[in-house]
Amino acid sequence: MLKSIELNGFKSFARKSEILIDSPTVAIVGPNGSGKSNVAEAFRFVLGEQSMKSLRCKRGEDLIWAGNKSIPRANRASVKVVFDNSNKILDIDFDEVVIERIVYRDGTNEYFINKSKVRLKDVVTLLASANIGSSGHHIISQGEADRILNATPLQRREILEDALGLRIFHYRKNEAFRKLKQTSVHIQEVEASIREIKPRFSFLQRQMEKRQKAQELKDSLKKEFSLYFTFENSYLQELESHIKNSKDIPKQKITSLEKEIETLKAKLAQLKQKPKQDKETEKELQKINKQIEKLQDRKNEILHLLGVLDGKLEVLPTGRQTNSQFTVSKEKLLFLRSLLSDLKISLSEASPAILKHSIEHAVSSLTKFLADFDLTGGQSVPNDISLQRQKILQQKTQLEKEKNEIDGQLKQLFDKRLALQKQEGQNKDDVYKIQIEIAQKSAQLQELKNEMNLLEIKEKELQERKSKFEEDVAEIIALGIRPVESNEKISAQEASALKNAIQKKKILLEELGSVDEAFVDEYKQVKERIEFLEGELADLKTSGTKLVQLIKDIDKELSLRFESGILKINEVFAEFFAILFGGGTAKLKLVKEDTQEDAKDGIEIAVAIPRKKVSTLEALSGGERALTSIALIFAMSQVNPPPFLILDETDAALDEANSRRYAEMIVKLSQKSQLILITHNRETMVSAGELYGVTMGADGVSKLLSVKLEEALSVAKS
Ligand code: ATP
Repeated sequence: MLKSIELNGFKSFARKSEILIDSPTVAIVGPNGSGKSNVAEAFRFVLGEQSMKSLRCKRGEDLIWAGNKSIPRANRASVKVVFDNSNKILDIDFDEVVIERIVYRDGTNEYFINKSKVRLKDVVTLLASANIGSSGHHIISQGEADRILNATPLQRREILEDALGLRIFHYRKNEAFRKLKQTSVHIQEVEASIREIKPRFSFLQRQMEKRQKAQELKDSLKKEFSLYFTFENSYLQELESHIKNSKDIPKQKITSLEKEIETLKAKLAQLKQKPKQDKETEKELQKINKQIEKLQDRKNEILHLLGVLDGKLEVLPTGRQTNSQFTVSKEKLLFLRSLLSDLKISLSEASPAILKHSIEHAVSSLTKFLADFDLTGGQSVPNDISLQRQKILQQKTQLEKEKNEIDGQLKQLFDKRLALQKQEGQNKDDVYKIQIEIAQKSAQLQELKNEMNLLEIKEKELQERKSKFEEDVAEIIALGIRPVESNEKISAQEASALKNAIQKKKILLEELGSVDEAFVDEYKQVKERIEFLEGELADLKTSGTKLVQLIKDIDKELSLRFESGILKINEVFAEFFAILFGGGTAKLKLVKEDTQEDAKDGIEIAVAIPRKKVSTLEALSGGERALTSIALIFAMSQVNPPPFLILDETDAALDEANSRRYAEMIVKLSQKSQLILITHNRETMVSAGELYGVTMGADGVSKLLSVKLEEALSVAKS
């Protein structure tokens, strides 16, 4: 696959010089110091060698033609190698691949693949795909043949890995390591970022939970308050219209009664203008009237008090809340009672038959009415209020008792007065009647006024409840809740329970406080960020795990291939060794260099030369060392043949018999790899298909030319 190599300004090759490789074996011959090894180095150089030592110089500049009297020093050295890539041995889509490297005096290098400038890495990667590397297991420099014998077991392992084409696994492993390192740095960075925003996120999360809780509270508050709102609204409306309606009739009655009393009083005054009675009767009458008036006053007071007490009773909460509002009022009842007693009194004294009849009728119907009412009068009340109720009832009984006594006294006084008035005649009789009428109407008026008072008390209470309700509504609205009319109806008891629940929730809501709306957006952003970072972290961890696995897999694959490669090399090594030494054995052995568990096995070489008790490398002669290393190098090349092999005077130390064996093996090797042999050995020259001569004139410039075998043999060592 090697087609040609061209050197220009490289070391002693001051001018452009080219070797065309048309044969599987090319020998380069020439006198000492003519520049042959420079050709081998040109190969190393163009294939990317970075070790100056391997190129036998100190600096890049040393690689450039140093100049002489006639040819000035060059500014750059370049080597170009041409591969035939028609079988795609190099992983690139060209049938011919030209790799060029240029070094300048300042030490900078340039690399080209098919004239395109590339990086060193690109060259190394491309060549590695064809088992060609700068490490040089396929370029054996002068005196370096036994490098593999001198190496430590671990270095030997490296050379062998290289020869087996396992370098690529190391490269991949290093890549994986590098990525793993990068990944763990990224993991740390991402973890740091997460750590950094986590507290803020937790804070925002709490705010969102608070907000959610508040919203739930608000929702249930809205539902509950709407129920309560609907109930209270209609209750207040009903009560208001009821009170308003209840006021109409007593109001009218009061006005008409007041008028009637006025008229009666005027009539009375007129009657009193008439001639005076005899003085004693008059005096007596005045006294009685005063007593009556006093008693009447007390009675009115009692009636008022009874009214107030009844009012209290009514205001006291009962199990049947609305029932009492629609029953006959107690005041009316009282009035009826007093009317009854008055009527009874009048009845005993009235003379006209019609009056008597009507009064009798009234008495009977009132008696019946009261009897009926007394039957329904009792109401059950809750225990906690019953004490209060009892107290009021006691007061009432006492007042009623007093009233009955007064009634008795009044009856007596009325009797007495009637007797006196009879004496006074018809005039007095009229006066008396009017006075009774006035008294009755006054009592009626008082009852009505009491009733009005009671209604006003109720009205006041209604107003208070109304404004409390308005406050409640305002508070709920302030919390951002708008109550709505509900279709569901609830009882008063349910409403009261609901009011308590609402109160508790309101407190809870106030305690929760409000959440800044800006947090909502921030929460979304931070959440997105955290989720992104966590996703990234998971990805990084996954790829970290994958990389660790990849490294394990590479290691496994590497040691498998290595061990099987060693087995194969051993087979050929033993065979070649036996050929070169005319018997004996040689073997590569895996040895543990390190006690560490994951330490790699190194490679030891065990040899047994026929008829000699030699088993260590150190005990071998120079020639024996050369033979052993040739056997090993050739074995390596057989197992994993490199596309080409450059051997710089590897055959220098061989005697004639061994030179022949060496030449035989060369023929064998050339079936698998192209060979470029720098040699002084006649046998080697004979086995080569093509010969190049290197000459150097007095000017120190190396020249390359194709030579015939006979010409070559003239410089060969005998
Ligand atoms: P031998 O057969 O003795 O091993 P060789 O043919 O391999 O010799 P080289 O070692 O390749 O010879 O060539 C060495 C020659 O190259 C020396 O004469 C050295 O002065 C010359 N040389 C090396 N570097 C430069 C350079 N930069 N400019 C000019 N000449 C150089």
